[in-house]
Amino acid sequence: MNNFIPFSRPSIDEATIASVAEVLRSGWITTGPKVQEFEQRLSAYFGGRTVRTFNSGTCTMEIALRIAGIGAGDEVITTPISWVATANVILEVGATPVFADIDPLSRNIDLDKLEAAITPKTRAIIPVYLAGRPLDMDRLYRLAAQYNLRVIEDAAQAIGSSWAGKPIGSFGDFVSFSFQANKNITTSEGGCLVLNNLEEAQLAEKYRLQGVSRSGWDGIEVDVLGGKYNMTDIAAAIGLGQFAKLEAITAKRRRLAQHYFEVLGADFEVATGAQLPLQDFNNTNWHLFQVVLPERITRAEFMEKMKARNIGIGFHYAAIPLFKLYRALGFHEGMYPVAERVGRQIVSLPMFYDLKETEVERACKAMIEVLEK
Ligand SMILES: *Cc1c(COP(=O)(O)O)cnc(C)c1O
Repeated sequence: MNNFIPFSRPSIDEATIASVAEVLRSGWITTGPKVQEFEQRLSAYFGGRTVRTFNSGTCTMEIALRIAGIGAGDEVITTPISWVATANVILEVGATPVFADIDPLSRNIDLDKLEAAITPKTRAIIPVYLAGRPLDMDRLYRLAAQYNLRVIEDAAQAIGSSWAGKPIGSFGDFVSFSFQANKNITTSEGGCLVLNNLEEAQLAEKYRLQGVSRSGWDGIEVDVLGGKYNMTDIAAAIGLGQFAKLEAITAKRRRLAQHYFEVLGADFEVATGAQLPLQDFNNTNWHLFQVVLPERITRAEFMEKMKARNIGIGFHYAAIPLFKLYRALGFHEGMYPVAERVGRQIVSLPMFYDLKETEVERACKAMIEVLEK
């Protein structure tokens, strides 16, 4: 389509493409020196914490749950508004997902409701930083300490975000990131997990590759059931090229978010009944710029009308408990009213590194036309 602005688009520079070609010509294209270098760079960024890479951001969370020993009979609390991966990993390890409704302004899990959902069976919490917006991290870890819970941070969208001047991932318990194609930095598909010590890292390495560990000078041993989750050097080469630009990427996204607010103006919410995100240009990496639509327009109608104006719209996310798989477990309408409303009406406007300010202006103009009462 002519002049179409997608909601997201990866930007891979020529130096990165050249480094991928170099890997392809090297004779070693699976896990190797590039993965090791990528893990070292990430570790340095996360304040020297232990980091391992994987082939998705989903398996990192599943592996963190396994390392924490969470399984059948254990409850894990998470948010109803996330990519379904967040809850699926809880089922994958045989544990029971428990949802706590979201805060309507941050659209992240409401920590009061999270605390109210804690039972004697609760073993862990998986907070999600929607659009890259962190929670109140001090309160989150106070709750975890008070109730003796493990935390698996689903920071899939939060690379480059920070709290009190510290990068998300540089503190806390397990922290999981995704490098899927639409994320702020990508490896096409991939992820990494920040761990607490080498013992956990060794377990993560086993879960990453069939449970295999070295035994003696010439043998291997298998003592846990692992899967096949290793990152390739091809992916790591993309990641290294992207990671070098993380600061620039985050700064650009913050500028674009600021531009959205400037162009939409102070009266946009009153004039349209739509709800903008909270303004935060210090902590949030602006992975997404999300608007909750007024009830008088359906999301499908909005997306159709924006598409007719050459603007691509994303949809992140439907309320997880209302999917068939979760309804079959007993979840139903009315349990999480805020998440249900937001899950029906939330849309993501164009937001990516190469997006131009003039394109932000076009997206705003189109949205104002479509939403004007
Ligand atoms: C992208 C994403 C995931 C999953 O990451 P993959 O790398 O696609 O497995 C999980 N949670 C959230 C919130 C995400 O945005």
